[in-house]
Amino acid sequence: MSSLLALIYLLASIGFIVGLKMLSRPDTARKGNWVAAAGMAAAIFGTIFLYSDAEVERLGNYGYIFVALIVGSVGGWWSAKRVKMTAMPELVSLFNGMGGACAALISGIEFNHLLHPMHATAPATSGQVLIIVLGLVIGTVSFVGSMVAWGKLNGRVKDFSFGGQLVVNLVLLACMLGLSVYFVMTAPGFLATANYATPILVFALVLSVAIAYGVLFVLPIGGADMPVVISLLNSFTGVAAACGGFLYSNKAMLTGGILVGAAGTLLTLLMCKAMNRSLANVLIGSFGGGSKTQGQGGQAITGSYKQISLSDAAVVLSYANKVFIVPGYGLAVAQAQHVCHELEKLLEEKGVEVKYAIHPVAGRMPGHMNVLLAESDVPYEKLLEMEQANDEFSTTDAVLILGANDVVNPAAKTDTTSPIYGMPILEVEKAKTVIVNKRSMKPGYAGIENQLFFQPKTSMLFGDGKKVLQDLVAEIKNL
Ligand code: NDP
Repeated sequence: MSSLLALIYLLASIGFIVGLKMLSRPDTARKGNWVAAAGMAAAIFGTIFLYSDAEVERLGNYGYIFVALIVGSVGGWWSAKRVKMTAMPELVSLFNGMGGACAALISGIEFNHLLHPMHATAPATSGQVLIIVLGLVIGTVSFVGSMVAWGKLNGRVKDFSFGGQLVVNLVLLACMLGLSVYFVMTAPGFLATANYATPILVFALVLSVAIAYGVLFVLPIGGADMPVVISLLNSFTGVAAACGGFLYSNKAMLTGGILVGAAGTLLTLLMCKAMNRSLANVLIGSFGGGSKTQGQGGQAITGSYKQISLSDAAVVLSYANKVFIVPGYGLAVAQAQHVCHELEKLLEEKGVEVKYAIHPVAGRMPGHMNVLLAESDVPYEKLLEMEQANDEFSTTDAVLILGANDVVNPAAKTDTTSPIYGMPILEVEKAKTVIVNKRSMKPGYAGIENQLFFQPKTSMLFGDGKKVLQDLVAEIKNL
């Protein structure tokens, strides 16, 4: 490898790290994405034009490489540009699956190279075979699992579980491990004696078991647990890509893969913490029993709810000292983030202190609400994390809930039979008044009723989020 290429890989790795750091704040996230993308572009073009080693003087196959690059770039750009904000998690899942598929394909190609060596190279080592099988297993599980998650998020695939599914999954996991170990121990010997049939058969078996495991592992997980699974699959893809980095001794690929793997793992653990669950509970809790399945469980709610008129809501908000806005998935559906910011500015002109309470799993992807509000230039300092907001609700006059449901459902604290029991929530009922905007009494993602809507201090303000906020802004201007 030339020293120029080594320098490019170093700069690319720095670009990934700096970009990742910048992604942690909404106001620098867009630039961070560009910095990381520039690092990736430098690594790709550096490899294409500068890579050489003892066997390969230059890569060649430029026609194939550039056609693939153009098709991938145009397809990715086009789908990312036209995707609706509410469908973003599906796209993330789909793209993540593509990463897993690439890692698995690399393993397939490199295994094929061991069967048909292009050059008189040294015989395959156990280390080489280990990296190939790791990339195959992790990449395949990540690809298949992400595809199932994609189908579940867009409603094409329904939650599915059967009695004994946990046992079946554990058996599949044991088979995958056993076959992989056998492959690593025996493949170098078989290949050295030109016995190709056995390693090919074992490779095919590992692939088949990994596909079955990927499907059965994600299929039963439902309700509020999908974000954790998507984040976990994302970290799998990172580890699978890092295996590719080992195979090719490519430092940029290794750094990129490890960063994705580490960031995905940290995000998974943080989300589990935010939901007050262990990872094992998220993954195993949903198998078989359906206790964590969408729309099941939870005590029936009796009682009535009351409604509030637009003019009354305008008065409550305008004459409050302190108002919290709680955004949820419905705000993203209504695309009401701009008019929401307008309402916030209008209230502040009237001397009201306005803040936002952000639940870590509000919306349909990690950071969904932060991204949505950043789109309408809501200052970052106004967004309070759940713990901070919970400390401040008791000194709040009015909470305006915009299309949020599960993240403010008190059943998470009080109803042990509820599918969201144990998830920390925004404790909005501590405030003096709660106004909830949604279109109907229909449940949210977890499919359960919300006791909050029936409490004496809560009033419902029905209608599409954007229309209601536009009318509310007009009412407040007329006061
Ligand atoms: P919910 O899904 O609980 O509720 C959203 C509410 O928005 C619905 O009750 C709906 O009621 C209302 N709504 C929909 N469209 C509109 C509209 N146009 N105008 C006004 N209201 C509207 O959302 P939350 O944000 O409270 O909770 C997120 C849920 O999604 C959690 O269960 C979380 O675990 C899960 N999840 C989160 C992911 C993440 O990474 N953040 C990923 C996957 C799932 P109505 O139909 O009556 O209007």
